[in-house]
Amino acid sequence: MTVVLKETPIMAQYGKIKAQYPDCLVFFRLGDFYELFDEDAKIASKVLQIVLTARHKNSSTPVPMCGVPAHASDTYIAKLVKAGYKVAVCEQLEDEESKDVKGPIHRDVVRVITPGTLTEDTLLDAKENNFLISLVRCDVAKSSVYVLAYVDISTGDFFIQSHPLAELEEALYALNPKEILISEPLWKNDSIPFLLKSWKHAVTILPESRFEIEGCEHRLSMFFQVESTQGLGSFSKAEICAAGVVVDYVVLTQKRQTLKLNRPKHHRQDHWVRLDAFTRKNLEIFETFSGPNQHTLARMMDRTVTAFGARLLTHRLQHPTQDLEILNKRLDSVAYFLQHDENRAGIQALLKNIPDLERIVTRLVNARGHPKEWLSLRQGLGVLPHLECFLESCPQEILPLIPHLTYYNDFYETLCCAFQEEGGGDGWIKPQYSRELEALHHIHQNAAQILEALQRRYIEITGINSLKIKYNRIIGHYIEIPPHSISKMPFEFTLKQTLTTGARYTTGELCDVAAQLETAAQKAQILEEEIIQNFSKSLSQIHENLKQACEFLGILDVSVALAELAHQHHYTRPHLDHSTVFQVEGARHPVIEWVFFHQNQKKFIANHCELTQEQPLWMMTGPNMAGKSTFLRQNALIAFMAHVGSFVPAKFAKIGCVDRIFTRVGANDDLARGQSTFMVEMLETACILNQATKRSFVILDEVGRGTSTRDGLALAWACVEYMVKHLKCRTLFSTHYHELAALSYLPELRFFTFKITEWNEQIIFFHEITEGISDQSYGVHVARLAGIPEAIISRAQDLLQQFPEQKLFLRNQS
Ligand code: ADP
Repeated sequence: MTVVLKETPIMAQYGKIKAQYPDCLVFFRLGDFYELFDEDAKIASKVLQIVLTARHKNSSTPVPMCGVPAHASDTYIAKLVKAGYKVAVCEQLEDEESKDVKGPIHRDVVRVITPGTLTEDTLLDAKENNFLISLVRCDVAKSSVYVLAYVDISTGDFFIQSHPLAELEEALYALNPKEILISEPLWKNDSIPFLLKSWKHAVTILPESRFEIEGCEHRLSMFFQVESTQGLGSFSKAEICAAGVVVDYVVLTQKRQTLKLNRPKHHRQDHWVRLDAFTRKNLEIFETFSGPNQHTLARMMDRTVTAFGARLLTHRLQHPTQDLEILNKRLDSVAYFLQHDENRAGIQALLKNIPDLERIVTRLVNARGHPKEWLSLRQGLGVLPHLECFLESCPQEILPLIPHLTYYNDFYETLCCAFQEEGGGDGWIKPQYSRELEALHHIHQNAAQILEALQRRYIEITGINSLKIKYNRIIGHYIEIPPHSISKMPFEFTLKQTLTTGARYTTGELCDVAAQLETAAQKAQILEEEIIQNFSKSLSQIHENLKQACEFLGILDVSVALAELAHQHHYTRPHLDHSTVFQVEGARHPVIEWVFFHQNQKKFIANHCELTQEQPLWMMTGPNMAGKSTFLRQNALIAFMAHVGSFVPAKFAKIGCVDRIFTRVGANDDLARGQSTFMVEMLETACILNQATKRSFVILDEVGRGTSTRDGLALAWACVEYMVKHLKCRTLFSTHYHELAALSYLPELRFFTFKITEWNEQIIFFHEITEGISDQSYGVHVARLAGIPEAIISRAQDLLQQFPEQKLFLRNQS
């Protein structure tokens, strides 16, 4: 590929650089454009939908090429990174004019942008952390543990977790990584590519040498400027390797720019409520079955008004906890703000004016923020003291925020003195902030006046009314007159250029003023940069505090938002304890109720549910469309929401802490795994039967449907027996096998069905549960509802009359 590109010096330079970044699309700076060549150009033109042209079009070996304007490159880069590509940005590192040697100007890659190493607001999702993860296997005795080190460089967060293989997928789902670093040998390990199938595009494979302990130790110590990694805390070798690889990758991709990260910390994970990948999907927490959609639990619950609040809510939804102390603190906050309507409104109105401080501050201390971001920072800090009056008697969880509200006042004041509003004048800093700057501005303004006076005088001297003093970047300041006036020009005016549109002159006087002007402007710019750099330094001193402030502001935002949610939809505080009870009254499905509410549809029918230690399993029967799935999911969602620390859609809820939530849906196609429907169903059921404890909450929706009636029924029967006798976990089981009624000899079981009535050959679903067993499936009625032609419906009804009694099968069994 590069052979073709060697034809000109620039292409030779490109070829060399491209060879160093084979897995990236190289954005090669040529003047005001970034150009892409060859395969890169083909990919980019397709993804970005821009024209593919060619360099040296008429030669025998034209090079495919496309380009994007440098000033708008962010959006293009964002698109490519979103599509899973890495971008190496290659800049001109020398001024065309100041260059003295022949050949192309010096160019090099200044940054590699990968999905896991983004910092720009335009490239990031405000509501989610952007994690870069490295995965390392550690073999202890006969078992293996997988270490995950993960950073979000846009916020500086850096954590380490470890998991056995069986829990790795769950942990990854909870983090939703944007990029995963893995060593070549580990990637070749059988189970890993399978396990990482959902993140295939996010995987970056690195040579094993990068994962060697000595190198990793060295890199970590250098990065955090400590003598040895022991100074960072107590970490195992595998943890050091994982952390070292992440830091190394960050440094490599950021090239010349240094970056601040927090020191790595272990992330406590023993108290999380575990949800496997299937359960997360099935409960439609972040995605619906049809993919990203408005109607997810996360979307419904999110009433936050700040970016860091939204991220905290996402984090809580990804990591529900069993820690009663934490949960009660969160619930206390929600209860407080639910009670104090006015505070809630006041706080939300203020928080809305706080920009994404967490990411802005990180960018500013890393010197990669735009000067405009100082204005955003100032705006955010200006809001803080106003929050105080709404937090006079605030809940315990919010208390640590209080000192932060006034802590930044001085810094805020200095920012007010220093920065001028956007468009408020030349530059970003108010001239009166610094004497020197003021003097330079003075010269600048003076010079402008002198130029005006000069122009007036020259018009007088020459008698050319259209004479103008102008400026361009190439020749600087000059005097311009129309071509027909050339003869009028006195000899002390030196001719610089003659164009068809006019002639350009200069004078010694003009040169002096222009020089003054230009140096003043340059000096002012340098001085501004210095002032801003000093602000960066002061900011790094309060950076840690500000990060904490953001954390507490996030907690405030989430608490108020959850209170707002509870207020709007009449939620109640769940009573959480260490029992194994699940008791809810007047309970609803949070998302369906919300959708009904917004679409002004019918009212959602509330139901109760009571699973106890003595009777932990409810068997739900009823025809299709009765509301079985909805009922099962609504209870699982209520259990889930309670463990996030939210109020729940019910009139009353008492919930014993749950260690895991499992959901299984019968006959759920999982074609991606290439297994038969029934096999998948059994695998997933086996997982529950092997892993559920008496603290778990399980919903099994029509399990056994993927096989013949006989097998399905027998399996469902045996599962239920085992669950109530051995596991004793709280379980909701739905089935259309009415024959399971025969299980009524088990005292641990209760049977429920849905109220239904027939009217005018139609059936009406009330969606209200009632104790007992449904004896009909009403399948034909549902078919009518679905629009099956009437002739087929009546034929099916005739056939039904002729079929032998179903009960026969049951009798054979007993
Ligand atoms: P099943 O699992 O028994 O086939 P679903 O749970 O899929 O039934 O529910 C069928 C339809 O009834 C859905 O469109 C759902 O929105 C509606 N539905 C279910 N439960 C209720 C309820 N409690 N109140 C109002 N509508 C409901």
